[in-house]
Amino acid sequence: MTDCLFCKIVSGDVPATIVRESAGTVAFRDINPQAPTHVLVIPRDHHPTVGELAASDAGLLAELVREAHQVAVDEGVAETGYRVVFNTGSQAGQTVFHAHAHVLGGRGLNWPPG
Ligand code: 5GP
Ligand code: ZN
Repeated sequence: MTDCLFCKIVSGDVPATIVRESAGTVAFRDINPQAPTHVLVIPRDHHPTVGELAASDAGLLAELVREAHQVAVDEGVAETGYRVVFNTGSQAGQTVFHAHAHVLGGRGLNWPPG
């Protein structure tokens, strides 16, 4: 998708601080971190939401979740605890319509989120 910010991060047209890559995914630091660890994990392929990703490529969704866990391990928050969030739709706060997992950790996280 030519007009998608995260597709441009995948292609390298928009710079990002990349922390992990796999065959199907890229993980990079959120530009506006909400926790000491705040990494976004995205599929290289364009899928607007996690639901559409699940419906069209369940294997890629599994890879995305595995990579989210590996980010938590790499960041040293897997033991203390971390949260994986897929905001879906505008009322839930999704602003970039290329599916992405937020990996948040490194501080106490309130439940339920706001
Ligand atoms: P959403 O609100 O769609 O769930 O999450 C989008 C996330 O992308 C936000 O947390 C926002 O800070 C992050 N973001 C927006 N633009 C950029 C960018 O250009 N680079 C990076 N690294 N993160 C971005
Ligand atoms: Zn995209």
